[in-house]
Amino acid sequence: MYRSVAESQTLLINTQSRKLEAENKSVIKFGFGQSPFFPPQFVMDALKEAVHHKEYTSVQGDYELRKLIADFHRQHNGIITDPDNILIAPGSKSLLYSILMSFEKADVFIASPSWVSYEPQARLAGHTTIRLKTSFEDRWRITPEMLVEASKEKKNEVSILILNYPGNPDGLSYTEEELTSLAGTAKALDILVIADEIYGLLNHSNTHKSFVQYYPEKTITTTGLSKWCGAGGWRLGVALLYDSIAPAFKKTLIGIGSETYSCAPAPVQMAARAAYGNFQLSMEYVNAQNKYLSIIGNYCATVLNENDIQTHTPEGGFYLFPDFSRFKKKLSDRGIFTSFQLCEKLLEETGVALLPAAAFGFEKEYLAARLAYVDFDDPLIENSTETVEELFPRVVKGIAAIVQWFSKM
Ligand code: PMP
Ligand code: GLU
Repeated sequence: MYRSVAESQTLLINTQSRKLEAENKSVIKFGFGQSPFFPPQFVMDALKEAVHHKEYTSVQGDYELRKLIADFHRQHNGIITDPDNILIAPGSKSLLYSILMSFEKADVFIASPSWVSYEPQARLAGHTTIRLKTSFEDRWRITPEMLVEASKEKKNEVSILILNYPGNPDGLSYTEEELTSLAGTAKALDILVIADEIYGLLNHSNTHKSFVQYYPEKTITTTGLSKWCGAGGWRLGVALLYDSIAPAFKKTLIGIGSETYSCAPAPVQMAARAAYGNFQLSMEYVNAQNKYLSIIGNYCATVLNENDIQTHTPEGGFYLFPDFSRFKKKLSDRGIFTSFQLCEKLLEETGVALLPAAAFGFEKEYLAARLAYVDFDDPLIENSTETVEELFPRVVKGIAAIVQWFSKM
């Protein structure tokens, strides 16, 4: 009778970790990916001052804010978008869903690994999903050849690729060369690309390139306040539409938005005006976060690799996707055959929560997991130290616990 939709794995691990804490068990929370940073003070002040904005805004979002967003992204990396072609919604998650819902039937190409919600959303929207299987050795990058192969399986007229970088769960970006060749192939195959750039501003070296710069003909970019502004729970997402699709597509998206979420919260849109309207201040804040994210991301990757746990050094965001295949035999001797069993045992025996690779589109026997290195207090608030151990004590403890667990096996 009911559709089969389980609670999203990310939100589930958050609930489970909180439950364990409520039972007074200590948990190192590497499972759920939310920013440990507070929004900058001037943005929080703007939200406080906006509580009286109790009205609904237009479905598309506050026009002044859309102008500021266009200006912000132009200054950040040169994306030119007409404010009329921008949509604001309660989280980019709802925009991704609206975009997928806009098509009657499509083939949706999704990388493995990729964020947990793409596939359930595409399925709910009635589409066919085709997985592009990437590998640790190839740095989890999708290639033009994969697009060509996937297109051979195509059953519908419309093909959509969801491309996410810096990536959740891998923390990696694409080189300009890779972006150029992916864009060339997408264009040749007439694929619509949803570029999920929610972590774009959290590229640790501030060198994020937007896919729309390589494929302006058919790229929709999604972003928002959740990651770079540390405001996931505020729910403010943004979609930048490409010009030629905008008029008709916008109508459909607004139609869907009007029948589902109505608008993003009005006070949050006012606070977003402050965030997007103060480019210099916001970039100072973003750069400060990136400094810390890069320090701790590098630390985690280095310690894990030194201890035979292979993972790539992250380039952006706050995730690592370590591969534990080298421990396959030892794990199976302990009755651990799947990524889920691995994470379950690790949590039980060390108190460290990870999210199993199975949640990211892999067969259950593939022994990897996502590690969100975000269990630390915001170092931008009253911080008088620079040592990794003092800045990120729970992350350091969690990494040590993982290393010890594997080395004792
Ligand atoms: N895409 C990716 C890759 C994410 O990690 C998230 C995290 N929530 C989202 C989209 C959705 O973000 P939001 O709805 O908070 O904008
Ligand atoms: N993006 C976060 C994650 O991947 C959590 C939020 C969500 O999934 O909606 O853990």
